[in-house]
Amino acid sequence: MKKLLSIVVPCYNEEVAAPIFYKTVHDMESQIGDVDIEFLFVDDGSKDGTLNVLKELHAQEERVHYVSFSRNFGKEAGIFAGLEKAHGDYVVIMDVDLQDPPALLPEMLDYLESGEYECVATRRVDRKGEPPIRSFFARQFYKIMNKISSADIVDGARDYQMMTRKVVDAILSMGEYNRFSKGIFGWVGFRRKWIEFENVERVAGETKWSFWKLFVYAIDGIVAFSTAPLTMASVFGSIMCLTAFLFIIVIIVRTLIFGDPTNGWPSMVCIILLVSGIQLLCLGIQGQYLAKTYLESKKRPIYIVQEEE
Ligand code: UDP
Ligand code: MG
Repeated sequence: MKKLLSIVVPCYNEEVAAPIFYKTVHDMESQIGDVDIEFLFVDDGSKDGTLNVLKELHAQEERVHYVSFSRNFGKEAGIFAGLEKAHGDYVVIMDVDLQDPPALLPEMLDYLESGEYECVATRRVDRKGEPPIRSFFARQFYKIMNKISSADIVDGARDYQMMTRKVVDAILSMGEYNRFSKGIFGWVGFRRKWIEFENVERVAGETKWSFWKLFVYAIDGIVAFSTAPLTMASVFGSIMCLTAFLFIIVIIVRTLIFGDPTNGWPSMVCIILLVSGIQLLCLGIQGQYLAKTYLESKKRPIYIVQEEE
């Protein structure tokens, strides 16, 4: 019997891109390999006609399925839902805007079928067409993340990856509410093959990621996969204590030798500002972890389905 490949596609306001995506993959299907294919579109609470477009595609072809969320839950929730609903022996996650080139699918499938790898991931080698400031911060994020986290998070890695059932089940077994897929994929391990490609620009529509959204996403990623900031808070604290202790000695000695002339107020104000700033920063860091723990402890569902077919 032929194996089944599930293509999971999260979509948010993608009424223009979705049909183009479907047609492109459909047209090159025979080259992908000797597998049956199912499409699983996840409509992440789109406000445009995406759901209708998906319904039309489903009406045309039975192997096109869709899940529609009751509101926008974010791409991570979309990926999770797609992986949960996928039946395939192999599952691949793709963006609907064709920034994940379907031309790589045959190669990815080959690697999995050879049995040598359980997972084939992709990364962009450049960030062509992206604002330079965004690229700069993205690079810094990956640099820091790799220093402070044990999950192997690769610069330029896309969510575009094909994996075997074993890997999908491992990812689904991580039922955390704060989902940071780039971290989760690395965390589960397995033999991974990396394929590189050059950045492709969006086929239609606009990116859903503003700078601010990306910034929050980066913070979420760090909090989800590293506790280093918490350690940093203790280190800061210790350094400040030590410095204060040295200062006390210096001041006592100085007073004993030179008496006690009242000066040094400006420096005092600076020190108070610095120390209270650091205290607030550390409190904020702890707050981040507490907030995430709070959200996890509520055990809310990762997504809510409005309709599916
Ligand atoms: N997406 C989603 N939910 C969201 C935001 C985005 O499902 O809240 C989907 C979107 O439709 C697309 C993919 O995630 O298929 C990547 O989004 P986008 O192209 O906007 O991101 P970029 O490629 O600019 O990083
Ligand atoms: Mg995109």
